[in-house]
Amino acid sequence: MKYAKVQNFINGKFVDAHTDRSMEVISPVDGTLLSTVPISTSRDLDDAVKAARAAFDSWSKTPIKERVQVFFRYKTLLEKHLDELAKLCTEENGKTYGESVAEIEKSIELTEFATSLPQLVTGEILEVSRGVECRTEHVPLGVVASIVPFNFPSMVPNWTLPNAIALGNCMIIKPSEKVPLSCGRLAELLKEAGLPDGVFNIVHGAVDIVEAICDHPGIEAVSFVGSTKVAKIVYQRATSNYKRCLALGGAKIHLMVLPDAIPDMTAQNVAASMSGCAGQRCMAASAMVGVGPVDHIIEKICEEARKIVPGQNLGAVISKEAKERIEGYITEAEKQGAKVLVDGRNARVNGKENGTYVGPTVIDYVKPDMSVAREEIFGPVISIMRTNTVDEALAIENANPYGNAASVFTQNGGMARYIIDKASAGMIGVNVGVPVPREPFSFGGWNESKFGVGDITGKSSIEFWTKLKKSTTKWNPAAGVNWMS
Ligand code: NAD
Repeated sequence: MKYAKVQNFINGKFVDAHTDRSMEVISPVDGTLLSTVPISTSRDLDDAVKAARAAFDSWSKTPIKERVQVFFRYKTLLEKHLDELAKLCTEENGKTYGESVAEIEKSIELTEFATSLPQLVTGEILEVSRGVECRTEHVPLGVVASIVPFNFPSMVPNWTLPNAIALGNCMIIKPSEKVPLSCGRLAELLKEAGLPDGVFNIVHGAVDIVEAICDHPGIEAVSFVGSTKVAKIVYQRATSNYKRCLALGGAKIHLMVLPDAIPDMTAQNVAASMSGCAGQRCMAASAMVGVGPVDHIIEKICEEARKIVPGQNLGAVISKEAKERIEGYITEAEKQGAKVLVDGRNARVNGKENGTYVGPTVIDYVKPDMSVAREEIFGPVISIMRTNTVDEALAIENANPYGNAASVFTQNGGMARYIIDKASAGMIGVNVGVPVPREPFSFGGWNESKFGVGDITGKSSIEFWTKLKKSTTKWNPAAGVNWMS
């Protein structure tokens, strides 16, 4: 085993869970056994909630300008340890080193945003009648939890922890059991940055801990990022316990390609979007709808896809099961009459025979009712459908239950605006393959890609991680009796 067994992080210390149960952490890159992760119990969660609750009084009363000083230092530490964090991310997740570097850089940008929160939470004040003022303040919620998926071991934790903590909350995070290592390193860096013990805690585990988080009376709010199936379970369970909940789910990103799209740029964007992070991104292009004569662009997409080589500029998928699932989708589509133009099945990487790789795959002549067109595949696979009109393309996009994002490739501004208006997704790109809004804009989809109000990052996250206090004050006796008195 390459690393020591993973431990929980509670009250500023790494501690063993109260359990003998654990799972193996296997590197998708080459099958190396990296570590074991404990399947923690509700007793471990109780310990974390107690530590967080004890830290909350002092942390929430620390002025926000002082709180964000920790995040200035944390940002510098992320920069200092970028290479090491990126290597760890690649080992446990399987993405390429370059993609891991981008993930840490994004974590740095998210932290940078948290340091700007004092400028954004100044509240409002107004003299509402003679001598009487109304004032609003953003007040932290208390102990909050963040449940995260495997596909961004560092970035998704950093979607929530810097903002929630800078806003005065104390947090418990539940990493994915498939990639538990990066989060532990983040905890060490937060401690080194001066975060007081108990403000940030990690409880590892799987289903039981997620359920215990949703039920725990000491936790005020739960954020979740993962599949739609689990997002629904978490949203229902947490809100039925009267907690605030924001649960981000799966996705099926549609790219609409119009005949006037610039061929080279479009092909490069489509290929990069479908294959980046081995297609294991909730923003990965998964379905393409070609409108009218676009064969010349599809040819170029295939050319670009063939330049993407597993083990070189394409990372591994998370597990053997994921590889089998993805390849199963391709085989099923072929049986149903679709044409596999670029086939990523049976990919092998020399020297990494135990790695779990799927090559880039382009499937043409897909029909909207096939499973490759409807379901989230979460692999480097794009399914191409064809229509004669933009409205037919929009009907396919609208009919999909997800709604994270969509993109259009065209040079016609009016058409692009029409598609922005009609697409049923929270994030839209024009000539952009992965339309992730960058800070201070917020990240969040629609429909079955998100349950709850607001977005998870950027300015919108302030509403989720705080509650508003409204005070009305009168200090001037000469103001007399006001009409509401
Ligand atoms: P997942 O839903 O399997 O797991 C997410 C978290 O939930 C993990 O911490 C896991 O331990 C826990 N979990 C798993 N099954 C559970 C159950 N039955 N009950 C309670 N908890 C459970 O997701 P994943 O495979 O880790 O990540 C991939 C998914 O995440 C994809 O669907 C992807 O689209 C989605 N995702 C969405 C976004 C977004 O912003 N919308 C971002 C990243 C990933």
